Parts: sequence; structure tokens; C-alpha cells
Amino acid sequence: MTATTQIASSAVPGSEMEYDVIVVGGGIAGLSAALSATENGARVALLERATEAETGGNTRYTEAYLRMKTLDEVSDGLADTLVDDFMGHPDPGITADSGLDWGRRNPLLRAHQVVDLDYVATFEDNAGPTLRWLEGHGISFGQLPTLFLTVSTTRMAPVGGGLALVETLGAKARSLGVAFHFQTTARTLRVDDTGRVTGVEAVDADGARRVFTGTVILASGGYQGNAELMARYHGPLGMLARPVARGGNYNKGEGIEMAMAAGAATAGNFALFHAEPVDPRSPDPEAAIMAFTYGILVNVNGERFVDEARGPIDAWYERTTRDIQAQPRGIAWMILDAAGQAIPNLKTAIRSEESPVRASTIAELAAKIEVDPVTLEATVAAYNAACSDGEWDPTRPDGLATDGVTPPKSNWAKPIASGPFIAYPIMCANVFTFGGLKVDAGSRVIDRDGRAITGLYAAGEMTGLYYSNYTGSTSVLRGATFGKIAGAHAASLAARQPAVERS
Ligand SMILES: Cc1cc2nc3c(=O)[nH]c(=O)nc-3n(C[C@H](O)[C@H](O)[C@H](O)COP(=O)(O)OP(=O)(O)OC[C@H]3O[C@@H](n4cnc5c(N)ncnc54)[C@H](O)[C@@H]3O)c2cc1C
Repeated sequence: MTATTQIASSAVPGSEMEYDVIVVGGGIAGLSAALSATENGARVALLERATEAETGGNTRYTEAYLRMKTLDEVSDGLADTLVDDFMGHPDPGITADSGLDWGRRNPLLRAHQVVDLDYVATFEDNAGPTLRWLEGHGISFGQLPTLFLTVSTTRMAPVGGGLALVETLGAKARSLGVAFHFQTTARTLRVDDTGRVTGVEAVDADGARRVFTGTVILASGGYQGNAELMARYHGPLGMLARPVARGGNYNKGEGIEMAMAAGAATAGNFALFHAEPVDPRSPDPEAAIMAFTYGILVNVNGERFVDEARGPIDAWYERTTRDIQAQPRGIAWMILDAAGQAIPNLKTAIRSEESPVRASTIAELAAKIEVDPVTLEATVAAYNAACSDGEWDPTRPDGLATDGVTPPKSNWAKPIASGPFIAYPIMCANVFTFGGLKVDAGSRVIDRDGRAITGLYAAGEMTGLYYSNYTGSTSVLRGATFGKIAGAHAASLAARQPAVERS
């Protein structure tokens, strides 16, 4: 047992533990917030639902790709991609104030469900400096290989991935005095008569109530680990989408719910989540199958249902995964012929350790995957007849498209001709949920009347930003960026109004 867990277990149930800043959640957003608040002079506690061995939520399991060109420059078009992701047609009468300073905007806009331009600009400006800051805390970064064989943007990653972030930053935070309280689940915010958040109530491993007073930074992830919220927001298909890795199961949405109960506004699309195509048979984290662009996808009826290759896989896999989720039983089969299997580095794009189903003919394959052979043979024949000759280049969208089949295939359309054939099942996994809290560029949580809630900050995937399609490799980056910002602001608020004055 570490010194910090001893602090938690020796506390008297029901008694109040006073800190300057309370961080809820020990992923990249929470660790960045805790480190930053400590560096800015605050006494910090970090509450974490998991055990010390499993702390870190999603961050623990990610390779943590970062949408960066270099350590100091974000990838081209980052801000535009985030802003353009907003779907729909917001009321121009409300968004007209977007160019004004935050304080001069009308309250409707401040609480509105649109991408905040200040937030995006702050993200762009602070991403590089934040990575340099993490570098100063022992993280190294590189242009590491990804699982995508075709790409639309540039990426960097921390050496050792998210696990290195959790372990290195966790150790650093401990060495600077952050008090970690593991197996401690935050449940309710304390709010005083002025509307100020003054602390959080939690339960420990024994279910006993713990009260922590101080400015609160919520960094407890989305709600992908909560089947009831998944069904509430995503309907009958919600329960089909299990978290893509074990860590997501810890994220049950209390942070979002407790802030909403305190009046917080929301942002991000509560109807969608970040979807990833994985092998449903695999127990491994992120058993991704990202090679369907080179073959065809069929549903359990043996029919194609989507253009498998609309562009680079990194830009399109999420939308194709949503189409897979909408199929009967939420499953599709990726079928590759011998030429598809011969693509250099194919294994890079198939993370599953489960063996594919193999057969020497399409009819035999159909029988093995329990699809009607006559239908599957007809599907393959129709697709093959729509393919034309041309240069096939698996390294870039090659424009080799079908002609005369529905749905079409826009790239890499080569006949499924030469056996042996393989098939992998694919389901839609839930990386994280899009719906979350509305925050401003200072990570302050905004209420539904457009006011910042004093004493309450939030960062990471529990804050809403994404609407129609996840802007890849931005979640860890913004968790670190706005976690750091939240920590600095919360520390300065605590310094201006110490906990003892608040109580
Ligand atoms: C396999 C995988 C691959 C991914 N790949 C990428 C990628 O390459 N690039 C990228 O940018 N993103 C990627 N993501 C997404 C990204 O990892 C996460 O969105 C990000 O790490 C979230 O960080 P966070 O700190 O907000 O939440 P988390 O890292 O999930 O941390 C939340 C923490 O809060 C704790 N918690 C939850 N509820 C409570 C409570 N009530 N009280 C106390 N503690 C609580 C949890 O136990 C957890 O430790 C990936 C995710 C996964 C799983």
C-alpha cells in the first residue's frame, strides 16, 4: 500500500478532508490537471474509482496518437476540422456573437450547443506547449507507426503510449505531493447558497461516505461504461457497443450527471460516440480490423451495404463502423482474397489475435460464417463484375472504383477472385461518448444560463466537442491541454479564496 492510499484509508468516514483542489479521475486529463494545480501552489487530492493497478481509464489502454505535425505544431487544418464537424444549421441570430469576447456574448450563445471558437483556438495554441510541458515531466514523443495503412493527417505519440502517461505522470504527481485516493468514487457535488461548488462527496472501497472540500476539477471520462446511459442516449443499439478496452468500463458518467444536476450546460452530440471496428471474438483492448478497404464487407445476409473505401481509412473508419452497427445483429464480415491478404504490412491493420475464417471457395467461406452461400456468391459476382482494370495502389486512395453496382466502392475496387479467402467478423466498439459538459476556453463549466459555475472545472472526454465524426487523435491531446489549463485556473481560484474561507 502506498503512502497516498494510506491517507485515504485512514480518513474517518463522513469527516471532511480539506484540499485546495479536488481532481476527479486519473486519466490524462486528471493527471495533467493535478500536476498543473500542484505546480501552481495548490494542495491537491485526486479521486479515482479504480484500484491503483487499474487506474487511468481509457488513457491506460490507448497508444495516444496526437494530431501533431511536430511537437510544436498541430496538424494542418485541425481547427477547421473540429469546427466543420458541427452538423446542422445553428441559429445565426444566436451565433452572430461568436466573434465577441466570451463575457460580451449573449447568454444563449455561451450555453449553446455549438463548437466554441475560443476553445478550438486555445486548443491549437496550447497543444504544443502542453506537450513540451509533459516532456519536462519525463514523457518522450515520436512519429510512431500507426495501424492505418492510408492516412489523411499527421500524428505523433508518446513513447510507451497511454500507459506511460499514466505511470510517469502519476509518479510525478505523487512526488510533488498530490494525494491519490484510489477506489474512491465521486458521486455528488457540494454547492453553497451562492451557487459556488465547494467540494465533492464520494464513497470509498467499503461504500463509506467521504467528503472532500476544495475547488473541483471533473476529469472522469464519458459514460461508455454505463449500460443504462448508453440505452438512454443511444437506444437499442447502445448496448451492442461495448467499450473498446477495459478502462472504458470505469467511466460511468457520474461526472457529467453531477455537473448537470448543478445546472451545467451540455455540448457534443449525445446521439453518437466514437466508434471503432473490432473483432467481437477478441478479449484484447482495441482488437481493431482496419483492412476492409481492400476487400468487401457483407452483413449476415451475405449482402454488401456500404462503400467500403470512401477515402483514407483513418478518416472513414468511424462512419463505416456506424454502418456496420446498423446491420442485423450489429455484425459484418470483412472478406479478403489472396491479393488482399498479400498487401505489405496487412497485419498492422488487423490488431485481432483471433484467426480468420479460411476457405478455398466463396461457397465454403459462406458455410463457415453461416451466411447463405447462394447470396454471398451472387454478391461477390455482382461486385466483381463492377470492378475495372487499373492500377491498384494500397498505399493511397487510388480511385479504382466500381461501376454499376450498389453500393459502389470508391477505391481499391479489385475483384475478389483468387483463393484462399479469409473472413473476419467486425462489430462496433465504443471508444468514448461524444456528449458531455459545456466548458469555456478556461475549462470552466458553463451553466444553462451561460454563466461559469464558480469552483467547477472539467476536462477530457467528459467535455463535449465532437458532433458527427471524431476528429482523430485529438482526445488525449485536448485532455492534456485543458487538464493543464483547468489545474492552473483552479489553483489560482483557490489561492484567491482559500478553502478555509469558503467553508
Ligand atoms: C484502445 C483505445 C485507443 C484510443 N486511441 C486514441 C488515440 O490514439 N488518440 C487519442 O487522442 N485518443 C485515443 N483514445 C481515446 C482516449 O484514450 C481517451 O478519450 C482519453 O484518454 C480520455 O482521457 P480522460 O482523462 O478524459 O479519461 P480517462 O482516461 O478515461 O480517465 C477517466 C478516469 O476517471 C475515473 N473515474 C470515472 N468515474 C469516476 C468517479 N465517479 N469517481 C472517481 N473516478 C472516476 C476512471 O476510473 C478513469 O481512471 C483511445 C481510447 C482507447 C480505449
